[in-house]
Amino acid sequence: MYEAVIGLEVHVELLTRTKLFCRCSTRFGAPPNSQVCPVCLGLPGALPVLNGEAVDQALKAAAALNCRINRISTFARKHYFYPDQPKGYQITQTRPLAEGGRVDLGAFQVNIARLHLEEDAGKSIHTPECTLVDYNRSGIPLIEIVTEPCLRTPAQAREFLEHLRLIMEYAGISDCKMEEGSLRCDANISLRGPGGSTAVVEIKNLNSFRAMERALAYEIRRQSRLLAQGKAVAAQTLRWDEAANRTVVMRSKEEAGGYRYLPEPDLPPLILDEAAIARACRLPELPLARKARFIGAYGLSEADALILIGDRMLADWFEAAVAAGARPRPAANWVLGEVARLRKETRHLPFTPADLARLIDMTERGAVSVAGAKKVLAVLAERGGDPEQIVHSLGLAQVSDREQLAEVARQAVAENPDAVRDYRSGKDRALRFLLGKAMKLSRGRANPQLLRELVLQAIADAERL
Ligand SMILES: [Zn+2]
Repeated sequence: MYEAVIGLEVHVELLTRTKLFCRCSTRFGAPPNSQVCPVCLGLPGALPVLNGEAVDQALKAAAALNCRINRISTFARKHYFYPDQPKGYQITQTRPLAEGGRVDLGAFQVNIARLHLEEDAGKSIHTPECTLVDYNRSGIPLIEIVTEPCLRTPAQAREFLEHLRLIMEYAGISDCKMEEGSLRCDANISLRGPGGSTAVVEIKNLNSFRAMERALAYEIRRQSRLLAQGKAVAAQTLRWDEAANRTVVMRSKEEAGGYRYLPEPDLPPLILDEAAIARACRLPELPLARKARFIGAYGLSEADALILIGDRMLADWFEAAVAAGARPRPAANWVLGEVARLRKETRHLPFTPADLARLIDMTERGAVSVAGAKKVLAVLAERGGDPEQIVHSLGLAQVSDREQLAEVARQAVAENPDAVRDYRSGKDRALRFLLGKAMKLSRGRANPQLLRELVLQAIADAERL
C-alpha cells in the first residue's frame, strides 16, 4: 500500500486599503484597469515602496500560525513571463518574513515551513476572440503560506485549509473569499511506498475546498494505478478540471533555477524591531479559543460550538443574543436553525439579536409557541418590526390563562364522551384526539403543555362525577 504525502501552498490576499508597492486601491469589483499606476503596470523607471499595513497584516498571520518571525527578510525578483505580469518578474521574498509555524488541529498537526510576502499578478480573461488583461489585481499584497509535506489524506488537507481560512478571518487578515480569489491553494502530492517515493506532482488553482479534496483523491488513484502498472509518475504541474473530474497537464514542473531569482535592487531588506513585531502580533481571539469558550462559558455541545465558530456571523449573532438576555442553549438552537436558514433565503437579516432574545424569552414564558415564534421570525426576516407587536397582529399570542384553558378542556371532554371512554380503556390516540379538539376550541392559541395538563385534569374530574 502507498501513503500519500501532501503539502499545500496557500496564497492569501491581505486586507489592506492599498497595494503592496504603490498606493492604488485594492477594492474588488472595480471596472477593469481603473486601479493602476506606473508601479503596478510595471512601467520603466517606476519604483516600489513597501506598504507598512501589508507588513503588519503578514506579521499577524505569522503570529496566528505560531511562526518564528525573521528580524530581517529580503525581497527578490522571480522571473517568468506572462501577459498579466507586466514587469516580467514578480516581487517575492527569498529570506521569508517568517518560518517554522504550527497549527494544532487536535487529531493532527500541520507544520508551516514558511510564510512570505509577495505581490499578486493581474488577471487574464480569455474570450473566444482574444485574451484581455485586467491589472487591478496586479500588486495586491499576498502572503504565501507553505506547509511541510505533513498531510496524509485529502480530508486532512481540506480540514487544514478550512481552519486556515477561519484563522485569517478571525484575525482580520483576509476575507478569504475563494470565489473572489482572495484565498487560493496549490497542492504538492507524491506517494510513498515500500519501494520509495514517486516524483512530486503539483496541482494548481484549486479554487474551492471541494475541488482540492477531489483533485487530491483523484491524484492518489491515478498515481497508485501507474505504480501498480510499474510505470513512473512524471514530475508535472497539473490543474484540476472540475467539469471533467480529472487533473490535466499544464507543463513539466519548473525547477527553482528556472525562475532566475535575483535580489530586488529597488527594495532594501525589511528590518523589524521587537516593538514593531510585538505591536503587529497582537491578535484577537482565534477560532479554537472561541470554541473552547463557547463550551466552557455557555455549556454548548462540542458539535454546536464547532458549527458556530465555523461561521463568524452566526457566532457573533449567538453571542449578541446571549448578551441581550437569551439563555445560551436555546439561543444556539435558534441561531443554528432558523436564523441560519433565513439568512440563506434572504441574504440579509433586518432584525437584531436583541429581537431574537425577546422572542426566545416569549417562548420560554409560554407567551407564544415555538411554531408561532418561527412565524414571527419569518415576518421579522421579511420586513423587521417589533416581535411582540407581530405576535399580536398575527394572533399568535398563546393563551396561558389557567381558567380560560380549563374551560376549553372541560368543553372538549364533555363534547367527546366516546374518546374519553377510549382513553380510559388505554387508547393513547384518544388523548391526542381530545387535545386536538381542545386546541381547536382555543383557536390554536393554547399553551400546549398547560392544555395537556388541564385536559387530563378534566378527564379525571369527569370520572369522579
Ligand atoms: Zn499602482
